[in-house]
Amino acid sequence: MNLRSPRNVNYADPSLHAHGLYIGGAWLPGSGIPVMDPSTASILAEVADASIEDARRAVDAADAAAAGWRATPARQRAEILRRWFGLMTEHSEELATLISLENGKALPDARGEVAYAAEFFRWYAEEAVRIAGEFRHAPSGANHILVDHEPIGISILITPWNFPAAMATRKIGPALAAGCTVILKPASETPLTAYAMARLGEEAGVPAGVVNVLTTRNSGPVVNAMLADPRVRKLSFTGSTGVGRILLAEAAKSVVSCSMELGGNAPFIVFDDADLGATLDGAMIAKMRNAGEACTAANRFYAQAGIHDAFVKGLTERMADLKIGAGYDPATQCGPMITRKAVQNIDRVVAEAIERGARATTGGAPLPGDGYFYPPTVLENVPATAAIAHEEIFGPVAPVYKFETEEEAIRLANDTEYGLAAYVFSRDLSRAMRVGKGIESGMVAINRGLMSDPAAPFGGVKQSGLGREGGVRGILEFVEPKYFAVEF
Ligand code: NAD
Repeated sequence: MNLRSPRNVNYADPSLHAHGLYIGGAWLPGSGIPVMDPSTASILAEVADASIEDARRAVDAADAAAAGWRATPARQRAEILRRWFGLMTEHSEELATLISLENGKALPDARGEVAYAAEFFRWYAEEAVRIAGEFRHAPSGANHILVDHEPIGISILITPWNFPAAMATRKIGPALAAGCTVILKPASETPLTAYAMARLGEEAGVPAGVVNVLTTRNSGPVVNAMLADPRVRKLSFTGSTGVGRILLAEAAKSVVSCSMELGGNAPFIVFDDADLGATLDGAMIAKMRNAGEACTAANRFYAQAGIHDAFVKGLTERMADLKIGAGYDPATQCGPMITRKAVQNIDRVVAEAIERGARATTGGAPLPGDGYFYPPTVLENVPATAAIAHEEIFGPVAPVYKFETEEEAIRLANDTEYGLAAYVFSRDLSRAMRVGKGIESGMVAINRGLMSDPAAPFGGVKQSGLGREGGVRGILEFVEPKYFAVEF
């Protein structure tokens, strides 16, 4: 059965995407995974639950399409990606609604995500034609060194639920630009956006089998079966550090190349000389984009003693002012969490911090009702030993800690196994840069609450990951250098 998408369909309609797996350019019927609306805890649609056999079929399809896609001129691959960018932009409001429905994020956040996600297709359409090689003279003079960059091969792309569109395009864009065919496994909580984008990809002219999408409740065995297939050469994963470690071990068995975008625990450091208004603007973006469900979310606020009280007061006022509601309600500024379990995790770390002496200046307990709501919360007097100081909160909770000196700020910022993102606010740029250099993280935002940019290398150090996505480096994760020793 091939349910090719007609034009003028409404991509925001969840039932449109409930047809099943997308393998080899065909929509295979299936069911078994209910997709929830976290604002109401009701079922939006049901999508297919792929088996190991389906996963094998997806690898077969990616393999059958591989030679043709690799041989497709870069300009042509670029034009398909550029058309996909155009279609995502054309259907941006429907995609944003769909994201709000299944993920719960507020519409302005969902619109921001669609624009950010589409931009990866435009950026990699531009990069596809610029994959450079190398030419050198051997120092001995014996020969010439020629390096070609070949597509790495069939790539498995695994994405989380918190950015259902952007985490997929950040991988599909460079993989397709490099000449690889892919199998995308989106998170079971938010598969509708992935299937909607696959339909737009079909319309953009992506050949059958170049992009395959499968959803499964049986992630471990299904993904392991694909990793064990010798035709699969790449795993690009975004998700938690725990699952990343499991997948690294699994990929090691067949020596599959891995890129890992894992968890974060970002410090947000405010010095006495910072512009308070601009810092609060930055803090609200860094904390509340996606209601705190972001790997780059500010997880620990460190305020210097002289500005601490004013910062807590300002942050409390702004957080208390946010309108909570269903993501797709246009008035909403803070949507629900993804699941009830997510609310319980937040409740656990906040309650433990309060038990150890922290004080909630706003929020501090889950909201009643069917939806998965936790209110914007600010905590002060949080002891450094509290669990909340070390775990990824993944919710709208801002713990604020006091510090005295620059050295102390750097030491506290680095007191974590993670190293993804950090924020520094100070009017003294020399100091901000010095502190930024002292922090062990892959990314530092200075006097800014937002750092994600398709043109910049995104990624972490320590337990936050391996490799980079975006920018000119993102495509290098999907190529393999081949060296020719040439004498002439
Ligand atoms: P998760 O690790 O639970 O799941 C991520 C994906 O892996 C999902 O598709 C899931 O179905 C799949 N998965 C789970 N177990 C698996 C297994 N054994 N084998 C194969 N696949 C498996 O993470 P999540 O809860 O969906 O997302 C939140 C996490 O993602 C947070 O830790 C966050 O920091 C991280 N994240 C990181 C980045 C980044 O770029 N560094 C971006 C977004 C989210």
